[in-house]
Parts: sequence; C-alpha cells; structure tokens
Amino acid sequence: MFDPIKAIIDFTAHASVSADPEAKGGINGAVGFLKDLFEKEMGLDVKVVETPGHPVVIAKRGGDPAWPHVVVYGHYDVQPADPLEEWHTPPFEALVKGDEMFGRGVADDKGPVMVHIAALARLLERRSDLPLRVTFIVEGEEEIGSVNLAAVMRAHKAELSGDFLLMSDTTGLGRDDESITTGLRGISALEVRLQGPRQDLHSGFHGGAVMNPVRALVALCASLHDADGRVNIPGFYDDVVAPQDWEREEMDRLGRDPEDYRKLLGVPELCPPPDFDVFESRCFGPTLEFNGISGGYQGHGSKTIIPAKASAKISCRLVPNQDSFRILDLLEKTLRERCPKGVTMEIERHHGGDPYLVLPPHKSGEDADTAKGRAFKAADEAIREQFGSAPHYLREGGSVPILSDIRRILGLDALMLSVALQDCNMHSPNEKLDLIVFERCSKVSERILEAVADGV
Ligand SMILES: [Zn+2]
Repeated sequence: MFDPIKAIIDFTAHASVSADPEAKGGINGAVGFLKDLFEKEMGLDVKVVETPGHPVVIAKRGGDPAWPHVVVYGHYDVQPADPLEEWHTPPFEALVKGDEMFGRGVADDKGPVMVHIAALARLLERRSDLPLRVTFIVEGEEEIGSVNLAAVMRAHKAELSGDFLLMSDTTGLGRDDESITTGLRGISALEVRLQGPRQDLHSGFHGGAVMNPVRALVALCASLHDADGRVNIPGFYDDVVAPQDWEREEMDRLGRDPEDYRKLLGVPELCPPPDFDVFESRCFGPTLEFNGISGGYQGHGSKTIIPAKASAKISCRLVPNQDSFRILDLLEKTLRERCPKGVTMEIERHHGGDPYLVLPPHKSGEDADTAKGRAFKAADEAIREQFGSAPHYLREGGSVPILSDIRRILGLDALMLSVALQDCNMHSPNEKLDLIVFERCSKVSERILEAVADGV
C-alpha cells in the first residue's frame, strides 16, 4: 500500500533549494527520491533530463496510444528555509502535528504533487489494467523562474502531448472550501530612466534653465492613469475579455467583506477602478503599477540640487486576452511619445508572461465531451462529495508564466486543483500542509484520473 505521508516526509528530507548553489546534494537527493518512487514503487518509466540548471524528472505510465493521456506538472525545488530561527521544527524534517504537517516544501510543492502521485498509485493498486496514460513532469527550477523547462518541453514535445494538464501549485481558501483556479494574470515590466544634466547641478545657479528629471518623471508617471484610475495608454484595454456572469457570481458567493479587507491591508480607503468592485479588480482587471521610483537626494535634511537622473520600475498585471509583448510595446511607445523635453529616455524591458484562462467546459458552454471536459466534471462531483460543497472556480491575481508556455508548446489546458491553503506559510517559516485537504484532494484526483480513463 502506498503511504503518501511517509513519502512526503522522505521527499522533504532532501533540501532541494534551487536558488542555493550549495544545495546540489538536496537537488540530487530529491531527484533520486522521485526516480525511485516512480520506478520502483509504481513501475513507471523514468527519465531524468539534465539541463544547464537543475534536472527535470519525466515519469511515464505508457500504454495503448488510443488511451487518454493526462500530463501532471509539479516542482521538486523549494524556497530557502531562512530565517531558520523562526521555525518551530527543523524545516527539512517534516513533522506531523494533529492534522497538519510542517516542513519546507510540504505545501509548495512536494505535498501537492504527491496528491496526484498517490492518486495514481492507489488507482493502479485497484486497477492495474487501467486504460490511461499518465506522464509526470516534475521540474527543479520553479522557484527561480522555470528557466529551462520550456526547452525541455520542446525537446520532449511528442511524449508530453496529451489531453490536459493536471496540477496543484495554487492556494485554496480553507479546509471545507475547495477551489479550482481558472485564471491567472500575466505580467509586463520595464524600467524607464531619464537623464537630464551630465551631473547633479546647483539648483540656485542653474534652476530655471534646465528640466528637472524628477519633475519630468513624475509628470510622465502621472499621465499613465486617468483621474478615475483607469490605465491611460491608448489600446491598453483593447483585448480585455470581460468575465462571464457566472464568474462574477462565484466571486460574490465568497461573501467577502471589503471593510475586513481594508483593515487587513491597513489602508485608509480601497480604490478599485470604475469597472470592478474591490475583489473583482484583483483578478478580472488589468493594472499598471509603479514598483519603485528613484531620483535625486535621498539622505537627511535637504540638498539643493537638480538631480542628473530619475528612474521608475513599472509593471502591468494583465488579463485574458492581453498579450504581454504587445502591452510592453504600447507602454514603451506611450512613454517615448510623452517624454518631456529637456531629458533623454532609456528603457529597459524586463521579463514578462501572458495571462491564462481555462474555464470548466460544463460551466462555460464549451464541448464537455472530451477528456478535459470529463476531468472537470469529475473534479466538480468529487469535490462536492469530499468537501461537502461545490468547488469555487476562481481566477487569481498572481502569475504563473509557465502555464502559458505549456499551452503554447504542448497545447495543454490546466486543471488546477488547490491543495495548499492560504495560511500555509508558503515561502515562509513553518510552512504547513493540511492533511485532511491533502487526503480529500488525493481522492478527487483519483476520481479525475479514473473518469478520464473510463470516458465517463
Ligand atoms: Zn510552487
């Protein structure tokens, strides 16, 4: 009998911190652990694909090419455990206390990926002749930007093409409130630098004769929103797809109170843009934010200069169907057109990623008589049984750029089942996994795989 709790504890013992060059032993240990688990315990074919960074583990249960094929994504790398003194238990010795397990990676993503490994292991124990192909792709660089995964997917495209992607790497609402993530925002980012005089100038000797780069920069930044808070870039909203009515109802069903949210954030007032309420604005609408701004004297007291330069880091969160490159082009064009006189402008474009949307076919009206459609329907039914209430279908405000790569390269839509909860301390000390949710989700995953196999 497959014991998932023991498996997570053993998995967690390998300190696979992808950002730490000293952690090669932990990376190799986690890869070896997965290889043994997939190969020896489950009888899958395992390939460890080396990359310029950390390896990708591909484990396959093959079979008749006519059988449906589910691809499961996860990552074995974890965030650093620092600050160590804030942990109540050793981060790499996972410990079960009541219904929770504590340890680095138990919620992100070692426990969640184990949900699906356990589901298949149990299913194969019951039905060794299950007519289903399943391929796990578990990478070791998610926490450092999945730098090599796209190349691996391209190189193994044929064996990774399938019906849909199953994954758990998003967060859920609570033990009795299971959610399926249907959308994520994309991102476009750049830095704009303005240069005025060759060096800082005496504001008494030269003030009046030259443009102050800080003044130019704040005028430029202020022009990027209108008085109501809409983004003021021509064409910015052109491709935005409005949420379907049932998606707005899903948000309302959460019954969240804006005043509680205001207090949580400690702001005097919430300021959503005109088209959305406070909660909708976080996932249905695009934004433009100033992430940092600098220029001039920052020390104590005053220093009467005209600074030589000023700069701002700007990023946009994007929604379907905005294109991250197009938005970056529009932003850059607007900044250049509005560049005040008397300064020169330099723009550095940063990383980006497209937004993502996958609506459940049985709710969106799309053809539900497909492996993906059956998977969403089975998930819906199994969640009602296991959690005692219907799943919440929610878009999230954050970004998982690799999902649009997976769709572009492999043509797979993702069914994202939440396993970790919002209070799981992901990336923080005392990271934890709710074992009741784990067990329920594993049963849901088992049901999804079985329904897809049986074509019901
Ligand atoms: Zn993760």
